[in-house]
Amino acid sequence: MNRISIRSLALTVISFVMLLPLGNALGQTPEDEFAITLPSARTELREAPSERELQAPTQVVVLGTGTPIPDAFRAGSSIAVIHKGESYLFDAGAGAVRNAAIARYKYDIPSLYPSLICCVFFTHLHSDHTMDFSELAHTMWWRRNAGLRAWGPEGIERMANGLLEMNSVDVDLRTGGLQPVQNPDGFRVAARTIESGILLEKDDLVIEAFVVDHGDIHPAYGFKVTTDDLSLVISGDTAYSEAIVEKAQGVDLLFHEVISQQGLLQNSPGFQRYHNSAHTTSEELARLANIARPGLLVLYHGLFYGTEEELVLDEISAIYDGEVILAEDLDVFPQR
Ligand SMILES: [Zn+2]
Ligand SMILES: [Zn+2]
Repeated sequence: MNRISIRSLALTVISFVMLLPLGNALGQTPEDEFAITLPSARTELREAPSERELQAPTQVVVLGTGTPIPDAFRAGSSIAVIHKGESYLFDAGAGAVRNAAIARYKYDIPSLYPSLICCVFFTHLHSDHTMDFSELAHTMWWRRNAGLRAWGPEGIERMANGLLEMNSVDVDLRTGGLQPVQNPDGFRVAARTIESGILLEKDDLVIEAFVVDHGDIHPAYGFKVTTDDLSLVISGDTAYSEAIVEKAQGVDLLFHEVISQQGLLQNSPGFQRYHNSAHTTSEELARLANIARPGLLVLYHGLFYGTEEELVLDEISAIYDGEVILAEDLDVFPQR
């Protein structure tokens, strides 16, 4: 969905909400399915995934495609993989949890309800990838079946402890009064420092971390996720990395960050030097894709610097003849 249609969709939703009482009075049927299928303030609990969730094919929902630069249409970086009734998040940038709440209803995925999300894996600890860590861990924590589990590079435990300290005021208020608290330990975060290798195996789901080259920010990791019906690689933030070339060989989906070649030129020499060391230009990504040949190359975390966003697709397609798209928030894959 391009930007104009997102804007018009947003306007449609706003107009719909404003006109709803009038529309009902006139007996009109709301036409915008997106607007009418989003309930508000619904509390959801779940003991275990339903049979339908257990049988569903693996899905990927892009919760955030953004960068540190505030963007009305892009939440901070976050990708959710949904497999057998559990949602596994990869990064949690600002706005990701709100988009998870939308995606839960838009695509009818119960495990994306924020307090039901079990797990988050951080590629690295830059704030544009972690701002919703607290939101994820502590949204309605008192109704969580279990505290959030988090995996990330060195520093993740310090972050988790900081979040617990920050939220301890809320915990004291809620556990010390009249409020029924279903799970008094729901606020706890089980944080684990990661190294390269397999982090989680559950049924036929395998999540593997590998080191990427994010300039002087290290360690930074990419992730490979494999299930019985889907394989994908998530780059996180990285310069051109041989590890991604290797891990992404023939995967169904390669989610890769990108910096527009033209956009890069809009930067000062100092920032050009930094970005060249820490991020992947469209030209470099096209070369990478030509070797890895993923089923679909999905661009996210795009650094455009005022250039037309679609330009980055032209820059890549000039060198790479495979399928490539620029992701928008709430895109879902595979596109069946
Ligand atoms: Zn980033
Ligand atoms: Zn970064």
